[in-house]
Amino acid sequence: MDHFTFADGVLHAEDVPLAEIAEVVGTPVYVYSRATLERHAQVFAEALSGLDNPLIAYALKSNPNLAVIRVLQRQGFGADVVSGGEMQRALAAGISAQDIVFSGVGKTHREMADGIAAGLGQFNIESEEEGFELARVGASMGATAQAALRVNPDVDAGTHEKISTGKAENKFGVPIHRASEIFARLSGEPGLNLRGLAVHIGSQLSSLDPLETAFTKLGSVIAELRAAGHTITHADLGGGLGVPYREGEVMPSPADYGAMVARVTKGWQVRLAFEPGRVISGNAGVLLTRVVRVKRGGNGDPFVIVDAAMNDLARPAMYGAWHDFVAVEPSCERMTANIVGPICETGDTFAMGRDIDALEAGDLAVFRTAGAYGATMASSYNSRGFVPEVMVDGDKWAIVAERIEPAAILAAEKVPDWLE
Ligand SMILES: *Cc1c(COP(=O)(O)O)cnc(C)c1O
Repeated sequence: MDHFTFADGVLHAEDVPLAEIAEVVGTPVYVYSRATLERHAQVFAEALSGLDNPLIAYALKSNPNLAVIRVLQRQGFGADVVSGGEMQRALAAGISAQDIVFSGVGKTHREMADGIAAGLGQFNIESEEEGFELARVGASMGATAQAALRVNPDVDAGTHEKISTGKAENKFGVPIHRASEIFARLSGEPGLNLRGLAVHIGSQLSSLDPLETAFTKLGSVIAELRAAGHTITHADLGGGLGVPYREGEVMPSPADYGAMVARVTKGWQVRLAFEPGRVISGNAGVLLTRVVRVKRGGNGDPFVIVDAAMNDLARPAMYGAWHDFVAVEPSCERMTANIVGPICETGDTFAMGRDIDALEAGDLAVFRTAGAYGATMASSYNSRGFVPEVMVDGDKWAIVAERIEPAAILAAEKVPDWLE
C-alpha cells in the first residue's frame, strides 16, 4: 500500500498534488512519501515482532537519500551498507555504528579501516581472503572487527539473473560446502571476532521457497559449527523480498515472511539481522515526468517521448523491468503507445505497445514503484544532469536532493594545458 493516490481526478503524493512539485522543481523529479516509507517499515518490523530483538538493517543501496535514511533511522532501523560512501551516509543520518552491517565482495583496506574505526556492528566477510585481510587490519589497529561469514547457499532465487546472488556461480559469499572449514580457519585470528553467518540470495523474490531453503541450509551450518565447538551468536538473513510493480500483482507479504523465519529459525538462539531494501523503499517513490511530445506516423504505435530517460531510471533498460505508468490528470481516454526517453539509444525505452492514459505534449505522468534502485542508479549519460529528489510529508514537501545541472558536471572537467 502506498500514499500516491487520486483526489479529484489528480494524482497526489500524500496531500500534495504532483503538479505543484513539477511546477516548482521542474521535471523529471523523484518524489518520495514519508508516510509510505514509515508504513512499510512498520509492517516489516511488525512481521518480525515475534523474534527476540532482531536488527533490521535497511539496505541503503536501494535508496540512499539522506532524508530517506533519516525516516528509517527514526523507525529504529539500522543500515546495511556496501561501500564507504554508504557508511558515511548511514552515520550522517544518525544511525549508530553498532547498527550498521558492511556487506560486499570488494571492501578495500581503507573501507575496512574506516569501518573498524567507526565501530561498525558487523562486517559480512565474503571470502577467506577478505577475512584474513580484515583480521590484519583490525590487529594493526589494536582493534577487533565484529564479523559474520557470508555463505553462498547455491539456491536459485528464481529472480532476474542480474539480481540473483546466491547461486554457486555468483561472486557472493563462500561456497556452503566449504563454510565450516573457512570459518574454522578465520575464527582463531586476532583482530577478528567471527561470531555468525550471513546469507542473501537475491532481490525481487516472488516466492518464499528459495529463502526458506537458504535459511534451512544456514541452520545446518550453524549446527555444524557449534558441534565443532564454535560460538555462534548472530545470523543475518539478508533482504530480497519482492514488491508488486504491476497493479494487481501479488508478492509474499512481510507477515508470511516473518512467520516462515520464525518457524525455520526456532531454536537457533542467535540475534537475527535482516537487510530489507526494495520492500521498504520501492513503492514509496515515483518518478514524475512530463511528455515532451508525441511522435506519430511511424510503422507502429505512437512514441510518447517523456523528459525522463534511462539515465534517470535505469531498471527498464538494465533488467527489462516493468514500471506502471499513469497520467497525473488522466482523461478517460486511453492510447496504446511506446514510452521512450530522449536519449540516443534504442535501449532508452520504458515500455512498448503499452495501454496507457491518453497523453499529449506537456502532460505530466509518473513511473510508479521508482523509490528503489531509481535515483541511486542515475548517471549523467548524454550530458544530462542528475535528477532531483523530493520528499512529501502530509501537505508539506521539501527538496531532499538538488538537481545537479549539466553545467555543474562540466565544471569538474578540465582541458590540460598541453591541449590549450
Ligand atoms: C541488495 C542487497 C540487499 C537488499 O536487497 P533488496 O532486494 O532490496 O531487499 C540486502 N543485502 C545485501 C547484501 C544486498 O546486496
